[in-house]
Amino acid sequence: MRATKAIIYSDNLKNNIAEIKKNLKKGVKLCCAVKADGYGNGGINAAKIAEEMGAEYLAIATVDEGLELRENGIKAKLLLLSPCIPQEFEELIKNKITPLIFDKEVIDLLEEEAEKCGVKNEEVFLAVDTGMGRIGCLAQESAELAKYISDKKHLTLSGMITHFAVSDSVTEDNISYTKKQAELFKLAVENVKNEGINPGIITASASAAGIAMPELQFDMIRPGIILYGYYADEVTEDYLLSKGIHLSLKPVMQFETTVSAIRPFTPGRSVSYGRTWECSKETDIAVLPVGYADGLLRRNSPGLKVSINGKEYPLVGRICMDQCMVDIGKNNPNVHRWDKVIIFGPKDKGALYDADDIAKMTGTISYEVMTSISKRVERIYR
Ligand SMILES: *Cc1c(COP(=O)(O)O)cnc(C)c1O
Repeated sequence: MRATKAIIYSDNLKNNIAEIKKNLKKGVKLCCAVKADGYGNGGINAAKIAEEMGAEYLAIATVDEGLELRENGIKAKLLLLSPCIPQEFEELIKNKITPLIFDKEVIDLLEEEAEKCGVKNEEVFLAVDTGMGRIGCLAQESAELAKYISDKKHLTLSGMITHFAVSDSVTEDNISYTKKQAELFKLAVENVKNEGINPGIITASASAAGIAMPELQFDMIRPGIILYGYYADEVTEDYLLSKGIHLSLKPVMQFETTVSAIRPFTPGRSVSYGRTWECSKETDIAVLPVGYADGLLRRNSPGLKVSINGKEYPLVGRICMDQCMVDIGKNNPNVHRWDKVIIFGPKDKGALYDADDIAKMTGTISYEVMTSISKRVERIYR
């Protein structure tokens, strides 16, 4: 087994789901986002745990992701958050995946395919763009489209969905933008009801609004990032506490490797491509078999430190595709060849950084840090 791996602490995932459930208003359903292989944390494992813990829906991004979940015995309803192409409709329908739809062209094509597949009630959610500017119809189009769906013999409108653009920010401006989006969404739902059509499950909030604005939970929330142990940007533990909301999250993924060699360096010698680091005094350099092809973003060096046996050591020189180097100092009794090296993970298990710290250092978000951990990094479930 390769040294570089991602340990997935399932107990932490369970803790996070339990914490989310504590914050759900009575009767509110859970749709756990397991898209992108569970944000890199293993989609099947996350789906199984979420299903066991009562999630009625799981959110995915591609039909292939849904197929994989079905092949692994997942029975929960699957909500496809990103549009797919007509060539995927057959697979979508046969695997009971619920798409988000917002125009007549797709409704017609889906109806045709559902009829071909002999499926009477392919469930669909009507997506409303209330200000995210990504997918969805406009609020004033919702009634006509809902009617168009309910006139189809093989389709069933089972929900309405919108998505917030700035709900992970806590500035006054952004909070009022989110509230305006919510008002538009309510209007879109009312319009459908006034047409005499049951809009089904009403859902608007992902992690941030789902916890910070309980009044926007509607019938179902769609948490993603908090499942995996990270707060949604400015909606931090402290911010939530200031509003009397308790949410204690634990990071799920630990990204680690092993010291593959230790090599003595003398002044004047340099390390890695571009010779960005030059040895100024005698030291030992530990070589790690992990690089940007594993998801250790190249822009992490210089700056990143790793944890070896509880002490921190800086990366030196550029991160290569498959390896990188760490300055451990001369004759360090704390570091031996084959020792474990933790790059990020839960701090109570020895990591110096979590994925949020890495994100802040490199100008991105924890979502990207975790989804960047590539396929060749084996996930080990604990
Ligand atoms: C990814 C996604 C979510 C989950 O978002 P988080 O910020 O990770 O909670 C919910 N809804 C939609 C439409 C999404 O695309």
